[in-house]
Amino acid sequence: MSYYDYIIVGSGIAGLYTALLAKEQGSVLVMTKGSIDDCNTKYAQGGIAAAIGRDDSPELHFRDTIAAGDGLCDEEAVRILVNEAPARIAELVNFGVPFDTLDGEIALTLEAAHSVPRILHAGGDATGEHIEVTLSKRIRAAKIKVLEDSQATEILAEKGVARGIKALDCRTGSVEEFECRYLILATGGAGQLFKFNTNSDIATGDGIALAFKVGAEIIDMEFFQFHPTALHLPGVTPFLISEAVRGEGGILRNADGRRFMPDYTPQGDLAPRDIVARSILYEMKKTGSDRVFIDVTHLSPYIITTRFPHIYRFCLDHGLNITKELVPVAPAAHYMMGGIKTNSWGETNIAGLFATGETACTGVHGANRLASNSMLEVVVFSKRIMGKTAKGVKQEVPNVTRGTEVHQVLSQRQVSKAVPASSFATLQKLHWDKVGAIRDQESLTQAADTLAAWQKSLPPPTDRPSHELHNLVLTGRLITESALLREESRGAHFRSDFPQSSPQWQRHIVFTAK
Ligand SMILES: Cc1cc2nc3c(=O)[nH]c(=O)nc-3n(C[C@H](O)[C@H](O)[C@H](O)COP(=O)(O)OP(=O)(O)OC[C@H]3O[C@@H](n4cnc5c(N)ncnc54)[C@H](O)[C@@H]3O)c2cc1C
Repeated sequence: MSYYDYIIVGSGIAGLYTALLAKEQGSVLVMTKGSIDDCNTKYAQGGIAAAIGRDDSPELHFRDTIAAGDGLCDEEAVRILVNEAPARIAELVNFGVPFDTLDGEIALTLEAAHSVPRILHAGGDATGEHIEVTLSKRIRAAKIKVLEDSQATEILAEKGVARGIKALDCRTGSVEEFECRYLILATGGAGQLFKFNTNSDIATGDGIALAFKVGAEIIDMEFFQFHPTALHLPGVTPFLISEAVRGEGGILRNADGRRFMPDYTPQGDLAPRDIVARSILYEMKKTGSDRVFIDVTHLSPYIITTRFPHIYRFCLDHGLNITKELVPVAPAAHYMMGGIKTNSWGETNIAGLFATGETACTGVHGANRLASNSMLEVVVFSKRIMGKTAKGVKQEVPNVTRGTEVHQVLSQRQVSKAVPASSFATLQKLHWDKVGAIRDQESLTQAADTLAAWQKSLPPPTDRPSHELHNLVLTGRLITESALLREESRGAHFRSDFPQSSPQWQRHIVFTAK
């Protein structure tokens, strides 16, 4: 059995950035279930937030993040995020990430719910791709071992201590075990739960499921962010139309061509994502249409093609010239705020097991993520994992307590009714219809019953798709059961039967296996 100081599962920004830092402290193996660049990171458009502008400060960034998080951010984690951001950005620049510049300085743009322009971008709207390409080049140059087509399927743990990972070779079907001192999950999100989503195929909640099964605490799962504006063209997979498009002056119009966001909120087109997403859903219902539109025809074609070359090109390739025509959009599942509970050092409650990136929940996003804070969270907290592991000693019982928590065990449900057959398509439809941006007790109970029945009846997994289906069902159960418990609306979680937030619910829901 091979042994490494660090095994890192995942090769998005979290996996690659952490691997580059870990290389300075020991031997490293990165495993990833597809090719190195299969990840959500490469789709990130808008950019990465940091208070580096003249009119900005960590304090302002702190306030915007806390406001978006709707009462559930961990303030200590947010302080760390905003204070350590400038140093981490400098490190990314040193790694060679080519952030766009204006008059010799890093260019900054505005996104929804940020009070000043603070979003760094690269290649206009291709920030994630530039980060992914830059980091993978560095990984190759540093000769870090990367096992592609290798899917982590089980965490090896004894007496509450992680000691390695079992992985499936997706090409041959063989299974191998690897041992390590520190296991770092950087497995990304779970957007594939939903029929309409902006995520890569890899986003199937694997890390959540693996960690949960060895006793890790999973927190805040009811908070799933729906991006308000994914391109909605027949036969085209939803493609993100970045918030920065509205930041630069794009206007939302309904199917009748009328501007509608000011009817819902004084923040208008730049309101937080959950408000814009719900307003769009209401407007779609009112007008009987399955879409609304973003209008950028009043902006200069030069601005559109230079600030959003990727979006402009993608739409043009699908027959839409956005400098002249309205862009049809609808909400789509986008980002998982909840995840494996970690403290501000990336530790989970299992000794030797760390989590970083979208699979982790550090507490910085609370009930709703501020746009462009996620890649920042990755670099800030991955660096802290390195600080924690520098001495090579495993913490025996990591303390991951966070504010007021409601602890729950994921129990079985007695289901007597017939449920539809489980498949990837039925699972995605179930989540979209019953656990989407607007939920209620009835829809959530139907979903919870169906998922519990599916979990019992699924045959043991043998290959990548069947492992993914198992992981999605378990992750879906954690989201649905948390959403059922939270009888209020807050941040990205909206219950039409409890439309207000309640002070009693200013606490976190934590699920464990027992
Ligand atoms: C369209 C889009 C636009 C976005 N725009 C922005 C933005 O502008 N700014 C911002 O801050 N954030 C943005 N986000 C969110 C951000 O991109 C992600 O949260 C972030 O990139 C996640 O990085 P990660 O490394 O945690 O996960 P990912 O980049 O998704 O990487 C996960 C990795 O884990 C691997 N993996 C998963 N399961 C297993 C397994 N069982 N075994 C082995 N490997 C596994 C995957 O193959 C992949 O390599 C956007 C997201 C999307 C989808």
